Amino acid sequence: MTSHLTIIGAGLAGSEAAWQAAEAGVPVVLYEMRPERPTPVHKTGSCAELVCSNSLGSNQDSSAPFLLKQELRNLDSLVIRSADKNSVPAGKALAVNRDLFSDEITRTLEQHPNITLKREEVTEIPMEGPVIIATGPLTSPKFSEQLSNLLGQDYLYFYDALSPIIDAESIDMDKTFFASRYGKGDADYLNCGMSRGQYERFVDELLKAEKVSLKEFEKPVYFEGCMPIEVLADRGPQTLAFGPLKPVGLNHPDTNERYHAVVQLRKENREGTAYNLVGFQTKLTYPEQRRIFKMIPGLENAEFFRLGAIHRNTFINAPQLLSGDLSLKSHPDIFFAGQIIGVEGYVESSAMGLVASLNAMGRLKGIALTPPPPETAIGALCQYVTGKEGNYQPMNINFGLFSGLEMRIRDKKKRNENIILRALAGQEKWLAGLEDIKQYRRPKPA
Ligand SMILES: Cc1cc2nc3c(=O)[nH]c(=O)nc-3n(C[C@H](O)[C@H](O)[C@H](O)COP(=O)(O)OP(=O)(O)OC[C@H]3O[C@@H](n4cnc5c(N)ncnc54)[C@H](O)[C@@H]3O)c2cc1C
Repeated sequence: MTSHLTIIGAGLAGSEAAWQAAEAGVPVVLYEMRPERPTPVHKTGSCAELVCSNSLGSNQDSSAPFLLKQELRNLDSLVIRSADKNSVPAGKALAVNRDLFSDEITRTLEQHPNITLKREEVTEIPMEGPVIIATGPLTSPKFSEQLSNLLGQDYLYFYDALSPIIDAESIDMDKTFFASRYGKGDADYLNCGMSRGQYERFVDELLKAEKVSLKEFEKPVYFEGCMPIEVLADRGPQTLAFGPLKPVGLNHPDTNERYHAVVQLRKENREGTAYNLVGFQTKLTYPEQRRIFKMIPGLENAEFFRLGAIHRNTFINAPQLLSGDLSLKSHPDIFFAGQIIGVEGYVESSAMGLVASLNAMGRLKGIALTPPPPETAIGALCQYVTGKEGNYQPMNINFGLFSGLEMRIRDKKKRNENIILRALAGQEKWLAGLEDIKQYRRPKPA
């Protein structure tokens, strides 16, 4: 084992990881290939460049993204500190001046006495750890090849295909029914039956809807078997009714009613507090998804934990490959962090950089870190990436990832407030156990 921590990629996750370790007195060698070797979307050589939106998500105090940011503030996150300092007015979101934000992070890392920033592409996986791999959704092709050799081709993906996830509380259970096709299985699917008229109006709107255009480097996506729902609909008026919305074997269990089409929803967690719309990966804009998916019977008042998308995205099958501390089961000194482990978003990626860094530091210091409690936003994300069963697709922070008694509270605002209080209390206790690894600053009283 080396006496320093190697981090590959100075994006959101790698920058946060480097800062946390350096502040705890651990020497860090941080590799970043830009600007010499650019990615298809980054435009600068700055660390933690925001590739698209300048928003780090909601800062509304009863939201899951707020909770995640608050937990990161309590952990002295460099990303959130720079975001708070360089914020610009954006209603209830935390948006930043992107240049000031990443300039500040770059300067802080460059000037840190414990960090050596090397501007070069890493093409071989260092086998002497601890190492954190945080090369992001646009990992360089040569390095992807190395990852594929190390992990096996079946465990590395190049696109994600996200279906919307809906808050179970917002589904009209009187208009939907539980059943499995031909009665096989445990009636785990929630079904929304459509008449011919409802189906035709739905398809009509799908075809007219505004879409997000694919960028040039995203084009091969359709060869990967994750066809957007609207592209399927465009093949013919009945394509969906013979494809993902086929009604055969799904008559209503009480009335035996037959439908022209059936939209199926699958549980996202054991508690059944969130459901995903099966096969609804899409390039529709977010407002269009909200408008059109509410046309599905039973979803008129749907609240979305996550909306659908299709992206070019390099990510690994983290639940299969990683231990709870984000290290490889097969090579425990190699940690992974950021979007490459299947979280979505700037703040989620930073959070995973922070956790991987704590664990890698623990490895260097011979201390086993207690995992962040599952009732916290950071803990819920860790649990998702290392414990999700079945089909694995990237995830942003949302209340559907939380479990516990609070989830049964019907009043949504109260439920969310309770989740947040429980999370912050859980985090406070956890922070106390981290003193050996690092001294943490406590949040200033409001
Ligand atoms: C087109 C696009 C648009 C997006 N829009 C948004 C958005 O609006 N909001 C949002 O929250 N998220 C967005 N994302 C997701 C976003 O990329 C992540 O949220 C975040 O940047 C991930 O952080 P990361 O640290 O994992 O990866 P990155 O921030 O991408 O950092 C990875 C770093 O590793 C470097 N690197 C790669 N390979 C090597 C190598 N071999 N050697 C050395 N360095 C290497 C890269 O240059 C990069 O700096 C978008 C992603 C894409 C692809």
